[in-house]
Amino acid sequence: MSPSKPRESTHRVHAMSLPTTTGRGPRELPVHIVQAPKPGPTVLITANVHGDEATGVGAVLELVQRLPELLTSGTVVLFPTLNPEGLSQRTREVPADHMDLNRAWPGDPRGGPTERLAHGFWTEFLRHDPDLVIDLHTDSPASIPYCIVDRHLKGSQRLLKKAELLAVATGLTVLREYPRVRYVKYQLERSLSGAVLNTLAIPSLTIEAGPRLYLDANAVETAVNSVLGVLTAAGLAACPAPTHPSRVEGGPWRRESGLRVGQAGVLITHAQPGEHFGRGQLLAEIVGLDGVQRERLLSPRQGVVISLPERTWVVAGIAAGTYAVLEGD
Ligand SMILES: [Zn+2]
Repeated sequence: MSPSKPRESTHRVHAMSLPTTTGRGPRELPVHIVQAPKPGPTVLITANVHGDEATGVGAVLELVQRLPELLTSGTVVLFPTLNPEGLSQRTREVPADHMDLNRAWPGDPRGGPTERLAHGFWTEFLRHDPDLVIDLHTDSPASIPYCIVDRHLKGSQRLLKKAELLAVATGLTVLREYPRVRYVKYQLERSLSGAVLNTLAIPSLTIEAGPRLYLDANAVETAVNSVLGVLTAAGLAACPAPTHPSRVEGGPWRRESGLRVGQAGVLITHAQPGEHFGRGQLLAEIVGLDGVQRERLLSPRQGVVISLPERTWVVAGIAAGTYAVLEGD
């Protein structure tokens, strides 16, 4: 009797129908479903909520190729884009109404184009009964990759602990979201990860890697490795645990907006992504085109630079970057 061949994971593509946002009739989008022979958790991987953020699109297409061999149990459902019109038009927002899809979850079937789009995807997400959602974004070409854990407004420590353990498994720097008051002010509970955590009460992660607008091979590899790390921690695969060279240890860290610029001028930064800084350290200066210094931005606390803005000329109110600061600070 010949030994039976081990059963392999299957990959199938299902065409989901999306509500129209342009009045041109519904469109179909491919959703990839990779299923292992052994039962296990269901993980959703979503990309390109912001239509100009490329890395997730490339990461999903790469994962679709690799997962059938790597998945040992459970199911992974992958969405290459949640904002197909933004992807084709290179816009962050949904072009039909210029709204941010990442402040529209879980959507509204009677709302505007962006809310209808969110509702269409949300309905599809629920159909798969997920145990975990990983949403792929990009920040700026001048950034280190990182993983964000949302705030749970009802304060479930069990859920946050679970999400943080999975975030650590990305091998990236882990940041908790803004403190609660600003989390609510910025409507982050209506971001995809925020809505998943707060509405479905399952863990969710946001991974930010690489530049916008084009596929950067290193950023795609970083995102793929971090997703495989999470799938392994969640019991769906057995890949080596990744550690990105930029990972900032210690913490717990939380996301903080960079110092706000007070004067218009050229932004010259003095601390680069991944660099630790101390209290009172010069992080940036604003210089006029006449060469005269207009402003010095000194840090009021210690932290780490996560990303710098993609701009040279800044005006009052612009943040000079995104930083990690200690949770209690
Ligand atoms: Zn984004």
